[in-house]
Amino acid sequence: MPAVARPRASDVRQYTSWDRARLSVVVPIGVIVAVAIVCNVVAVLSSAQRADVVAVDHEKQLFSRALTNYGERVLREVESVASSDGAIQNIRRSFDADWAKQRVGTWLETYFDHDYIFIFDRNDDLIYSIVGHRPADMKWLANARPGLISVIDYLRGRDPNLRGAIRLDKTAMADGTAHQQTAVIRRLMDRPAVVAAVVVGPGDGTPESLDGVPPVIMSVKFIDDSTLSSIAAQLRLTNLRKIEQDPPPNGDLAYDLTGSDGSTIARFAWTPRQPGAEIVHNVVPFIAVAFIGFALLAAFVLRYMRRTAATIAAGESRLRHLAMHDPLCGLPNRIFFGERLEEVIEEVRNGSAPAAVFYIDLDHFKDVNDTLGHHVGDELIRNVTLRLSHTLRGGDLVARLGGDEFAVISSVAGDSEQMMWLAQRVIAAICAPYAINAQNIIIGASIGIAMIDDKCETAADIMRYADMALYRAKNEGRNRACIYDAAMDADLSSRKLLEADLRAAIENDQLQLLYQPVVNKSGETVVGVEALCRWTHPTRGEIPPSEFIAIAEHSGLIINLGNWVLRRACTDGKAWPEVTVAVNVSSLQFRRIDFVEVVQRILKETRFDPVHLELELTESVLLGNVDTAEEAMLRLKALGVRLALDDFGTGYSSLLYLRRFPFDKLKIDRSFVRSIEKAADAAAIVHAIVSLGRGLGMKVTAEGVETADQQLFLRAAGVHSLQGFRFGRPVTVAEITARLRSPGNFRPVEALAS
Ligand code: C2E
Ligand code: MG
Ligand code: MG
Repeated sequence: MPAVARPRASDVRQYTSWDRARLSVVVPIGVIVAVAIVCNVVAVLSSAQRADVVAVDHEKQLFSRALTNYGERVLREVESVASSDGAIQNIRRSFDADWAKQRVGTWLETYFDHDYIFIFDRNDDLIYSIVGHRPADMKWLANARPGLISVIDYLRGRDPNLRGAIRLDKTAMADGTAHQQTAVIRRLMDRPAVVAAVVVGPGDGTPESLDGVPPVIMSVKFIDDSTLSSIAAQLRLTNLRKIEQDPPPNGDLAYDLTGSDGSTIARFAWTPRQPGAEIVHNVVPFIAVAFIGFALLAAFVLRYMRRTAATIAAGESRLRHLAMHDPLCGLPNRIFFGERLEEVIEEVRNGSAPAAVFYIDLDHFKDVNDTLGHHVGDELIRNVTLRLSHTLRGGDLVARLGGDEFAVISSVAGDSEQMMWLAQRVIAAICAPYAINAQNIIIGASIGIAMIDDKCETAADIMRYADMALYRAKNEGRNRACIYDAAMDADLSSRKLLEADLRAAIENDQLQLLYQPVVNKSGETVVGVEALCRWTHPTRGEIPPSEFIAIAEHSGLIINLGNWVLRRACTDGKAWPEVTVAVNVSSLQFRRIDFVEVVQRILKETRFDPVHLELELTESVLLGNVDTAEEAMLRLKALGVRLALDDFGTGYSSLLYLRRFPFDKLKIDRSFVRSIEKAADAAAIVHAIVSLGRGLGMKVTAEGVETADQQLFLRAAGVHSLQGFRFGRPVTVAEITARLRSPGNFRPVEALAS
């Protein structure tokens, strides 16, 4: 089936709805999951970091505590010697150098591994020293003495500030008070050391302890590698060592031991335990599992949503297809056509080759539908679709606009000859007979063509042009095509003006009704009159009914016009009780649901005898809902009104109509009467119609009788009455009245002329 070659918007919509879903759901979910994961990671990392900080603080405290313990132990060791009775006896009371060497120096050096041991007398003079298993020499002492003396000064209560040292005993004493003992950590001989000093005496407040200035035993124990390794083993510190001022290597912790004046006594370093890393190490697998879980969940949700979006998109595109296509024949519908037309107009404006719209209207499709049923009508539409598809080119778009209307957007738009050639092909294809349900069906087609060029306006304009061209094609006799030209616009505007004038004429009672006599077969007696409407336009003069009746039907004015004619004819007809008054009824008028009531009301208002009224219907009146038409006719007949089938032979001339509908009269169209003398078949047809009418019990009237020969022929054929210029043209009420009053005066035109 030809269709627009470009991808449709519906194809793109699949992605659009997925994108929408992704934006509205997937992105927020993704963001939430990402934020959750980042929060988790940050929480783990910060608690790991915090754990590291706490661990470092703890290690520092432990280390500091270990140093204090170390110093206190040294102090206790010195105290154990200084408070012994032996020491009181051999150092305090009288100094025994041998005893001091044996029981203080060697003792502390050997058993407790102290490095230096000194004994100061009551005058703070050094009376005993041992430095590296030997007494200290003068030079050494000169270097070390200030550090040692500051401890003595503190002990004696002379200097409460132990500059450059850390006091380990926490006993608070008033300044200036002598102390029994003290232990400090300070830098000595460029090395950190514990210096413990204890006065020799019982140290428990006994008189001995208060007796004069006591000598002092002082011991120095350096904080060396062995000390550090025992602390490290005890505290499980890795790589504990003394460092100089350089910063420790990456990751190692530096610990400064600072004296009371802020000077650095020593700097230690070790590799801190890092529980944070352990935490991270322990937690990482769980985070990874959670992360993978989230990722899987997100992937699952994404996949689910993508599938759902695809399903929705497919549904959308199916709905869109349904909304854009005709369910009966599958062709694009009016909406699709409109959209594509807009696009084509845009493309042509942007430089593409011109295109053309072919507006196709099927002739007689409605009859098929009404007479043979909708299933045949539907099948016919499908057949027409197939033929159109085969006739048109692949790139052309063919759409069904509704009912029996199709439209094509074709690239065949070069010149009018080409467009007409294509239109003729389409008409030929559609007009070829169809065989559906064992029925032979022939329909016609009229086509209006409008060009789409770079100057064209909107889609609505193009369709209006095509419609005007179609209207012209139908007016010119159907089964043909017309190309829109600007003159049609003028035509249309003049029709619009005429329509306005006609409306005013109806409202202002400016129409006129003439009556044409209908005579018996001898032509001598007027048996009826036919009311024929006339309109004299104030500027354009006489407008033929063929023109203004068509305008009235097109604009809906026919209802008012028809009512006016009926009322006037009934009013006038009361003056002629001996004849029948025939009034033409348009199919639009007849199909109105209240038509019978309107007739009834007018008859009542005018008090016209219904038996003298004859309504002339054409075959088109009977198309559409056959049952409703029949019912209306029966109701009219019940009123007493008679019914005539006008212009018989020009329409479908279906025997079905004649048999089914209760017509009283059949009027042979004047086109047959005109041809009687020239064409033998016309004469034969007239014969057939007359016998058909008579056979069905109808009266037969021949229209358009102009000559004596025609009259003779028709009389011989058996018509009941005659109408035509030969017996009188349509004339005014007064003229009819005059003629009816003097029947003897009437002679046919020909007779008058001879
Ligand atoms: P129609 O109902 O078939 O009316 C007969 C037409 O044939 C009239 O044309 C009449 O003037 C014309 N005619 C009668 N005898 C002859 C003749 O010997 N030779 C020729 N050449 N023509 C003859 P008119 O008045 O122009 O009306 C044309 C059609 O307009 C009518 O055809 C009718 O269908 C329609 N019409 C006229 N008045 C009305 C009306 O009031 N209501 C409706 N609905 N239609 C009307
Ligand atoms: Mg008529
Ligand atoms: Mg007629």
